[in-house]
Amino acid sequence: LDLFGPERRNSQGVDLAEPTVTGPLLETLASRARIERHAACLVDGAETGAAPAPVHRPADARVAAGTMRAARPADIEAALASAVAAQPAWDARGGGERAAILRAMADALEAHRTPLLDLMTRDAGKTIADGIAEVREAADFCRYYAVEAERHCAVEGTPLPGPTGEANRLSLHGRGVFLCISPWNFPLAIFTGQIAAALAAGNAVIAKPAEQTPLVAHYAADLFLRAGVPGAVLHLLLGDGPTVAGPILRDRRLAGVAFTGSVPTAKLIQRTLAERDGAILPLIAETGGQNAMVVDSTALHEQVADDALMSAFGSAGQRCSALRVMLVQDSVAEPMIEMLKGALAERRVGDPARLSTDIGPIIDAEALARLDAHAARMDREAHLVARAELPESCAHGTYFAPRIYEIDRLSQLTEEVFGPVMHVLRFRGEDIEALLSELRDTGYGLTFGVHTRLEGRWETLFRKTLAGNMYVNRNMVGAVVGSQPFGGTGLSGTGPKAGGPYYLPRFANERVMTVNT
Ligand code: GLU
Repeated sequence: LDLFGPERRNSQGVDLAEPTVTGPLLETLASRARIERHAACLVDGAETGAAPAPVHRPADARVAAGTMRAARPADIEAALASAVAAQPAWDARGGGERAAILRAMADALEAHRTPLLDLMTRDAGKTIADGIAEVREAADFCRYYAVEAERHCAVEGTPLPGPTGEANRLSLHGRGVFLCISPWNFPLAIFTGQIAAALAAGNAVIAKPAEQTPLVAHYAADLFLRAGVPGAVLHLLLGDGPTVAGPILRDRRLAGVAFTGSVPTAKLIQRTLAERDGAILPLIAETGGQNAMVVDSTALHEQVADDALMSAFGSAGQRCSALRVMLVQDSVAEPMIEMLKGALAERRVGDPARLSTDIGPIIDAEALARLDAHAARMDREAHLVARAELPESCAHGTYFAPRIYEIDRLSQLTEEVFGPVMHVLRFRGEDIEALLSELRDTGYGLTFGVHTRLEGRWETLFRKTLAGNMYVNRNMVGAVVGSQPFGGTGLSGTGPKAGGPYYLPRFANERVMTVNT
């Protein structure tokens, strides 16, 4: 099996150390930030939805990020009916034609990088560097699934052996209408990736982005339509999950679901699908993690500090891949913790639209309240190692002061803490096995980091964890499409991995025709 297909090239970034690049970029962002942005549902290519409501801006609650129009029952019905009718013709166009449209979308994303950055800092509170990485990842997903569509979804299918003289042909087809439910933490990359894969495989799509980030979703959906996706094949429905996704999940016309978000929501979706009338549907779910990094006595402290800070506090820790607990060998724990402390003090928290900001705001008040509650418990039960300062300018946004706690047992972490909080736990060499089995017992298996200079130690550790993505002697976030297919096992997700060779086929039905010639 050839997993890779032709040679691929990933999207290129922006050199943020180059003033001739950043000067004009910041100027354009500043002038765009003054323009009001309005998001609406897109049904059959036309804007629709309820009366406009303000969209929360994480960096400053005093000014709305823009407005959005939520889907009404009639919009949901119109989208479903139209998608069902349009899907067979879209599927019949074959992978080659759909690939060309996805490549046009990738080019459009790159061409529209600045407006997309503006919207991501507004409604998701993304830093500029994180926003640039998202545009790249979104374009990479489109180009990756374009190649996959060509490889797997050719109209003529793939001939299979016919030793008895019969002619056999395998072909992949869209399943029907896919519901793509995407999260606020990657409002562009994951939104685009799910849709691109579902479309590439020949499905019609109803996209239901996180209610917190409608502005960037609306902009990106519009780019898909301009790139050539028919308005009847891709519909955008804005609003909250129970109101908008709920009725679609219960509808017999639905053929599959791609979801990224929390474990409880994934289970709710699974239950809803199981209880409805009609076919047994696939759910492709990517959820959370309880991600650890093992630092043994041979690790390089400076490198660990850098990689750990990036993994725990990048994107304000609002990544499912983020480092939550560092397991550090007791003989080196003291100097290592001192270095982490120093490194955190150097990180700047603040306005995501400023280039100097390392850590932006928390998505909304509800998420902030959960972090505050966790911190209150840690203040009682653990030892506060370091806490970054919040500048004055953060007073009006949903900001949380990043911090590091030392805990003395893993069981102190009862759930995934989705934000800029890192935990450190010392271990004695002989206890590592027990710790790893405790980690496995959490049921999560998303990312796992290792810092060691003991050649090959990572192979042993790899076998003892469930992690879908393991990173050795580097940071543990920012999986690259095509090189580090991303996704977990167990409570962390169903697979297949996004940006990998097994992803697209799961969005399709396989069919075989046998002709007795
Ligand atoms: N793919 C992202 C990464 O590798 C994480 C995705 C997520 O947080 O949902 O960091």
